[in-house]
Amino acid sequence: MSSIEGVFLMFCNMTPDYSGRKIAYFTLGCKLNFAETSTIGRMLSERGYRRAEPFETPDMCVVNTCSVTETADKKGRSLIRRLVNKWPEATIVVTGCYAQLKPEEVSGIEGVDIVLGSNEKLRLTEYLDRWERTHTPIMDTTPSLDIKSFRPSCERGDRTRWWLKVQDGCDYFCTYCTIPFARGRSRSGNTDELVAQALHAAGAGAKEIVLTGVNIGEFGRDNGQDFLTLLKRLDEVEGIERYRISSIEPNLLTEEILRWMASESRAFKHHFHIPLQSGSDRVLRLMNRRYDTSLFRERVECIRELMPDAFIGVDVIAGARGETQSEWERSVEYIDSLDVTRLHVFPYSERPGTKALLLGDVVENGERHRRVGILSEISERKMRDFMVSAVGQRRDVLWEHKISGSNEMSGLTDNYLRVSAPYLEGAVNTITPVLITGLDNRRPETVTGEHAG
Ligand code: SF4
Repeated sequence: MSSIEGVFLMFCNMTPDYSGRKIAYFTLGCKLNFAETSTIGRMLSERGYRRAEPFETPDMCVVNTCSVTETADKKGRSLIRRLVNKWPEATIVVTGCYAQLKPEEVSGIEGVDIVLGSNEKLRLTEYLDRWERTHTPIMDTTPSLDIKSFRPSCERGDRTRWWLKVQDGCDYFCTYCTIPFARGRSRSGNTDELVAQALHAAGAGAKEIVLTGVNIGEFGRDNGQDFLTLLKRLDEVEGIERYRISSIEPNLLTEEILRWMASESRAFKHHFHIPLQSGSDRVLRLMNRRYDTSLFRERVECIRELMPDAFIGVDVIAGARGETQSEWERSVEYIDSLDVTRLHVFPYSERPGTKALLLGDVVENGERHRRVGILSEISERKMRDFMVSAVGQRRDVLWEHKISGSNEMSGLTDNYLRVSAPYLEGAVNTITPVLITGLDNRRPETVTGEHAG
């Protein structure tokens, strides 16, 4: 080898130094995406990048997209175009579910430099090295059935909460959903490694961890582990005072888990997020969901019996294919009769490649939004009732931030009620008790509190 070749090879193998380069992150969609963006941020900061301040021009933008609905795709496209227009010199990296499902469409957006699928996103630094050498556009995705890797991560979220990714992917193939195509088959972390991540977060000052995944209750089915065992092990981690499970399918939220949370768990809080999607058994079958309305009601009643103070959030899709007028009426009556706290309502969105597109009984767009409106009103009423019932209770609050333009601060109770209270110096990221005194009429879905400790 000549000395010139030697120098060239040495240069190619050197890790480029990105010290001082500024990067701006944009995340759309679910908590899992937020957790993964944080992981990308940490990896890039280890390579010398720093997060751009809001007033700075970034050298690179990383956009972590969602594709759960057509609106999510649209939001992704318009965000990317805005970034390209605003910072034409910046390197634009796009990843996430939209990039995985429609890589050609994304790389066709003028100004996009790097497009990475779900399997590639956490290897961004490798792709950046390639980009630095060649400055030729990169597009790399793995077919969803071949996505097998799992990389655990426990990252600080945007406020005081941390997110621990315990599972990824999904095998359920609900007929309206593209997530199994975007994120691949279900796969889980290793319990010992996840506990180590929680210990590390506790060492870094974490007080609250949210367990994230695509279908969390499936944890362990691929690698012989067990979800309840994971919860019990995490519960023992000193320093972590609160855990929440981000969202769990009703058929996987077993009575055994609920009984353990109610009577034995130290830190798993009484807060549940359970997707229902429809209150009609026929529509649930059309959706290929793995439960019916009586199982769902049983779960809600079990939670209420064991944990009467629990916050129960429920996802519902309005105007899904197959939802006839009479199915809708039955559904809305059923949903209204459930003793839940809040509904997260989404209008049905046609997704290319899904089986739902073969179904009849298409609900017109205007009617979908009318149904969203009706469900949203029910949700507001339920949420208000829950807040009113909390008045007079003493609850522990994890304080998140000072409310700008006021001398108050905002935080969440153990059972997920947002509280405003007089600001206390040094209280952010600490847990203190409050007496809930009323509804905060200046802020949505917030109660007022007096310090009670
Ligand atoms: S459970 Fe159904 S809706 Fe949820 S990610 Fe899996 S396929 Fe999609």
